[in-house]
Amino acid sequence: MKKKLILVLNCGSSSIKFSIIDPVKCIAYIDGIVELIQSTTSLMVYDHITDKKLLNKFNEVGSYKKLIILIFDILSSKYKNYLDFVIGIGHRVVHGGQYLKKPMIINDDVLLKVQESSIFAPLHNPFHLIAITVSLQKMLKLKNNNVAVFDTAFHHTIPKESFLYAIPYRFYKNHSIRRYGAHGINHLYVTQQCSLLLKKPINQLNIISCHLGSGSSITAIVNGKSVDTSMGLTPLEGLVMGTRCGDIDPYIIFYMIQQLKMSVTDVQKLLTKESGVLGISSITSDFRELENRYYVDKRAKLSINMFCRRVSKYISGYSSLMCGKLDAIIFTGGIGENSSFIRKKIVKKLSLLNFFIDIKKNIKNNKTNFFINTIDSRSIFVIRANENQVIAQETYSCLQ
Ligand code: ADP
Repeated sequence: MKKKLILVLNCGSSSIKFSIIDPVKCIAYIDGIVELIQSTTSLMVYDHITDKKLLNKFNEVGSYKKLIILIFDILSSKYKNYLDFVIGIGHRVVHGGQYLKKPMIINDDVLLKVQESSIFAPLHNPFHLIAITVSLQKMLKLKNNNVAVFDTAFHHTIPKESFLYAIPYRFYKNHSIRRYGAHGINHLYVTQQCSLLLKKPINQLNIISCHLGSGSSITAIVNGKSVDTSMGLTPLEGLVMGTRCGDIDPYIIFYMIQQLKMSVTDVQKLLTKESGVLGISSITSDFRELENRYYVDKRAKLSINMFCRRVSKYISGYSSLMCGKLDAIIFTGGIGENSSFIRKKIVKKLSLLNFFIDIKKNIKNNKTNFFINTIDSRSIFVIRANENQVIAQETYSCLQ
């Protein structure tokens, strides 16, 4: 094998996904995940070439740094035949702030800006920084070939009238307070896939991409570019999420602090970790369980209905930005890809826009991409998220 491969590190707060990918042929050689499950750590690596799975469980939760070191140790001991051909490392970085608008080769200046952007993504950027630091130390020969690929980058085409908040302009000028959005890497991926599915050039494509997972966001894409997105300065704004509140009247926060005498920290925790469908149902943030209880538990039903209603409202709202041409809506993310029940509920409210679901097609399907609309309807696609492929491609072109 004489290939140029890319190692992708996709670091979240509760799981670390990694892949070794051929960025030109878009083939993944290995995919792996390290997950923290209560007091244990599980590591799974799947080798696509040999079809072999490696599963390890450790009865401890090491520090985040130790987990990244574990990945490099496993790769260099068991997957050296791939690692030896890796020419660059692509890091998913959730927030690139005001200045990092495209994939960047990581140097001290980029590291500093990622660190500065941590205030807007405190649950993500600090983990990316640990992963980058360990990569630089463990893979010395690739020291100058680490690339940061930003989730916020795809949204830098959003015009000012959409990315500004209606607060005094100086807060944008002096403090960079504006909408940045999130999930941009996957919104870009589904846009590329949709262009292939519809056989239409990306720069002529008008779609609405719904990334529905434990964090959810919707993006309006006109001529292949993001023109609005539901997440804001941070990933708290927009849709009802697993544990995040999404859009609320900001006065609720004053009320909680001034009248209910809650501390700022408590309000922050409430809105990020205890709200969303978990807060409404008082049961769980897991949509599978809420679906199972839909017909037997009133609040499970209410939470799902609230979630779906807000998604439908955003899609309808974004249809007004499409310059009269809406090619498709896309469902992606854990819920968007797997829940035919939720997709049906969302699309039911979109008949005015001429979207209709074909119930025979809206079923469990293992394909990476499939459509679920009737013949008379505009296109509705389900596209499996694949951030790592975009990260590998962007890393490769950045290093070229
Ligand atoms: P993350 O934002 O952490 O990447 P995912 O995109 O993996 O999240 O989505 C996780 C969510 O997807 C969870 O709430 C889970 O309940 C939901 N989910 C996964 N499979 C299904 C399914 N078959 N039906 C409904 N929800 C599902």
